[in-house]
Amino acid sequence: MAGKPKRIVEAAIIDGIGIVTASDLLAMTEDRWGMLRDRITDARGGAEGLSARCMACNSSVYIRSARRGGVPQPLFQHYSDSDPNCPWYNGKNSDPDKVRASQYQGRQESRFHRLMCEQIAELVQLDPRYIGHTIAEYLAPTDSQHGRFPDIYVVWEDFGPFAVEFQMSGTFQTEVSARCKHYEREGIPLIWVLFGLDTASSLPQSFRDVIRRHRGNAFVVDVPAIEASREQGTFVLSCHVSEGADLTGPELVRFDELSFPRSKLPYFRDQLVGPRLWDIEQLRRPWFLALNDWERYSPLNGLDRDASVLVAAAFSIVAHANGREENYLKTRQNLVAMLNSQLNEGASGRGGVISQYADLLEHLLRNTAMHSLLDTAVGQHLRRATAEQKDESSPEWRLLRKLLPEALDPLLRDELLYLDALPSWALVDCDTMN
Ligand SMILES: [Zn+2]
Repeated sequence: MAGKPKRIVEAAIIDGIGIVTASDLLAMTEDRWGMLRDRITDARGGAEGLSARCMACNSSVYIRSARRGGVPQPLFQHYSDSDPNCPWYNGKNSDPDKVRASQYQGRQESRFHRLMCEQIAELVQLDPRYIGHTIAEYLAPTDSQHGRFPDIYVVWEDFGPFAVEFQMSGTFQTEVSARCKHYEREGIPLIWVLFGLDTASSLPQSFRDVIRRHRGNAFVVDVPAIEASREQGTFVLSCHVSEGADLTGPELVRFDELSFPRSKLPYFRDQLVGPRLWDIEQLRRPWFLALNDWERYSPLNGLDRDASVLVAAAFSIVAHANGREENYLKTRQNLVAMLNSQLNEGASGRGGVISQYADLLEHLLRNTAMHSLLDTAVGQHLRRATAEQKDESSPEWRLLRKLLPEALDPLLRDELLYLDALPSWALVDCDTMN
């Protein structure tokens, strides 16, 4: 029994998401905590991202990945410049700048690295659109303070410029983040080619981070890729696709046939967004079916009367945000009239069935394409509701957060926004906000 008990950061507050405890983090899938990790690093580098602060001392924290039994596990860790008096502070971190400098020294001297760059340069020249390339030359910025030295920078006619970077197993997450964000700002596609990928053994965290940024795709330039490039007269890569903890493949993919999202980090198969949206659809489908057959005075999927009306109203809002004028309450009213009458506490008899959910409905509307209803009488009714409000821990709120997470689950909403994959019904036109 040596040493003090290990102190960990028990909870952090993440901008726009809220409090995330150490155990919340451990319960997340690797993709989920991994994206938070990426985005916190992005913000630390001054790019758009998420800032996370220790709940005890308010210093910035990041998500560290520590291996336990070969499995990467996430924990919050203070940055090295944080307050050492924090009760959750745990020792000094090594200074990444120093380590990076010595690593880069080694990297620039690496003859093998240079040869790999030249190999890729040969392949990009096979394409008839080829105009020019540079290897490790300074590229001046158009939209930011600092330029970069991309490993390879290529220009193809009609396609435009793109950059290729090699990811070595020891490359720092901060360096990966800085490069990703730089090219995103510049609007230049960036592809990370993994160097020394061994799919048979467990992947180093730096590889996992880059693979996730490419939405679960690991790109390598191996012998089959080089042969295929020569045959097809364009740049072809081998792509492994992540399936849970494993990588499948590889498959040969043409660079110009990849998908290029807003992040400018291309992918072949989207392993992040597709499975998430599919899971949500599976949860939601039985509710749409039940609503179609629902008769207004019967329980909906076993819910009580008030909750049934709430779900019908919420799904009607979502249908309208999707461009379908559906009133699941079947009251032959338009959406505004239906919401107004269900919220009207002054009505005779038992008025305002859903006024106890005014906070919830306001929250839902605010995160959908129907948010302008908040500027109408509907918004006034919601704000004036005097009924005692069901809060976020109520069963009704939890149910709708599960069924409509694009609008009501801040973590998922933020992820989909980050991945440029929030469905249009849950998008708020930024110009009309505030
Ligand atoms: Zn702290």
